Amino acid sequence: MPLLVMKFGGTSVANLDRIRRAAKRVGVEVAKGYDVIVIVSAMSGKTNELVGWVGETSPLYDAREYDAVVSSGENVTAGLMALTLQEMDIPARSWQGWQVPLKTDSAHSQARIEEIGTERINTKFAEGMKVAVVAGFQGISPEGRITTLGRGGSDTTAVAFAAAFEAERCDIYTDVDGVYTTDPRICDKARKLDKISFEEMLELASLGAKVLQTRSVELAMRYKVKLRVLSSFEEQSDEAGTLVCDEEDIMESKVVAGVAYSRDEAKMTLVTIADRPGIASAIFGTLADAGVNVDMIVQNVSELNYKGHEGGVTDMTFSCPVDQVKRAEKALQDAQAAGKLDFDKLESETNVAKVSVVGIGMRSAAGVAAKMFKILSDENINIQVITTSEIKISVLIERKYMELAVQALHDAFELDKAE
Ligand code: ADP
Ligand code: ASP
Ligand code: MG
Repeated sequence: MPLLVMKFGGTSVANLDRIRRAAKRVGVEVAKGYDVIVIVSAMSGKTNELVGWVGETSPLYDAREYDAVVSSGENVTAGLMALTLQEMDIPARSWQGWQVPLKTDSAHSQARIEEIGTERINTKFAEGMKVAVVAGFQGISPEGRITTLGRGGSDTTAVAFAAAFEAERCDIYTDVDGVYTTDPRICDKARKLDKISFEEMLELASLGAKVLQTRSVELAMRYKVKLRVLSSFEEQSDEAGTLVCDEEDIMESKVVAGVAYSRDEAKMTLVTIADRPGIASAIFGTLADAGVNVDMIVQNVSELNYKGHEGGVTDMTFSCPVDQVKRAEKALQDAQAAGKLDFDKLESETNVAKVSVVGIGMRSAAGVAAKMFKILSDENINIQVITTSEIKISVLIERKYMELAVQALHDAFELDKAE
């Protein structure tokens, strides 16, 4: 039998009515003769609520227990979806990650998938089951404990299943009708793309466009999964939504393809550290050991013999997710107390955001950075940190200017126009 993977995100299964609507979509594909693996998220808002409960109970929580709590939302929707399908006379069964099994490493709260066992589900398909409903976002570690795959991880579950079961396609049903040039919720002029390359989607996702989890795009690229994003709220044709595909399959080639933002950033500065070999390694080694995901880094120009310090001193600034600031502060202060680091002051700013422009065309076009900085300066937005790569430029700015920056960049790079 040909097989499809269909993934429904939180808003698409937010209540029983929506689950019924999603089940009807599944029924359409079953009627066409497909076996279907349905991946479900928790009902919208549920995972946030669970994460909140964990944080309230234990601010520097044990990640194993975080996973035990936070994975539970998906279990509920998987069972409800299977029941809904059964009510429609479609033979369906629900599966939690460990039952499949979906095996991961032991990196709790951001585990990586190592292997998906296809045998149990395939046996059931052979016995006449038409739909396997799988709880997204979760797996089992080598130690036999429940793991989760990081926020947005059901997308990755879906793509990994599509690869493991060699599905004809992986359809990601969500609350927008495709991938846009930027988040349509903060920019009216955002334009839906019919196609986007894996490379650009990967950058957009990793820079904050949460429509797909970064890892899901990586997997789709590696295993050549036909990946499509579409709305669960509209009637859909086979061409609906956005196809994520190889660069060669795309006609449109603008220098800048999209603008992404990440709201929940923090900027931390270690004031007055010695400027000598090994310091950066000591700081970022400490942070890595504490599980802090450092993103942008700047080291200031060194000053000689500052306030009696021997040799040069400098400041080191870095950014990380805002919810990791406490963890970072504790790790750095503990290292200071243990004599492994020496700094005068640690400053944390939690009111920053990152805005990025992305496009494969930047590889060959000059002047994109200069144009981006000019647009921001025309809006009087101060840039605090800059990073670039071959196909993206990111800036850290004050959060209150984030939406303005996204809209101004979208306008200036004319992303509302197709060509
Ligand atoms: P789901 O619950 O279905 O997984 P998510 O909330 O994780 O949905 O992702 C969909 C959301 O991603 C949209 O509602 C939209 O606000 C946001 N988004 C951010 N950037 C983009 C983009 N470039 N194109 C489409 N949606 C985007
Ligand atoms: N429910 C999880 C989250 O909100 C996983 C997902 O929906 O993809 O992050
Ligand atoms: Mg999501």
